Amino acid sequence: MKLLLVEDERRMAQALSELLRQEGYEVDAFSDGSEGALAAASGIYDLIVLDVMLPGQDGFSIARGARQAGASAPILMLTAKGEVEDKVRGLDEGADDYLTKPFLTQELLARLRALSRRGAATALSEMLVCGDIALDPATFSLENPLTGETVRLSEKEYRILEYFLRNRGRILTREQLAERIWGLDCEAEYNKVEVYLTFTRKKLAFVGSCAEIKAVRGIGYELRCSEERS
Ligand code: CA
Repeated sequence: MKLLLVEDERRMAQALSELLRQEGYEVDAFSDGSEGALAAASGIYDLIVLDVMLPGQDGFSIARGARQAGASAPILMLTAKGEVEDKVRGLDEGADDYLTKPFLTQELLARLRALSRRGAATALSEMLVCGDIALDPATFSLENPLTGETVRLSEKEYRILEYFLRNRGRILTREQLAERIWGLDCEAEYNKVEVYLTFTRKKLAFVGSCAEIKAVRGIGYELRCSEERS
């Protein structure tokens, strides 16, 4: 489970990162709001923890930007004590929960577990549909609702298509795909992305879908669904 932490108080950020890693989260921590905003909007995280007061960009605008970019990860805001307006505003901007500083680490962990369960439950029940492709998370299958053709996907192929469908209309870089699907941050492994994109294209062709995974030169890849091209 990939977790993004944006917190500018160094000691707090360090202690939290350590604790969260011990709990099995894969943590990326940023102390600058603008860097945190880019990370939050990337769509590669399963959970996001945002401090409100940050240099560069505040937690509210990071949450809003992430939602506008289509990132669906649950967001927990860390608000200052007694700032009721902050709580309301955070929830309005797309946060799912908040925790008032100072907090007990046990409470933070419990909130994160609840949020990740909620995220997983939504992801599991939801059939992802775009044009003539439908992804069934219960069976890892790809269906063309127009022809009724179905094919079973490998876990990687499923996650590639899911990632594209959850980031509809966006270009995803090879680095984002590698990091999201394999958790890799190593250039030598990037050719895996190409290989699995080729597999995924074959599955799309197999069910007679008109959707295409297009390479966008120098940037990355884009899924074009039939409904978006017509
Ligand atoms: Ca702060």
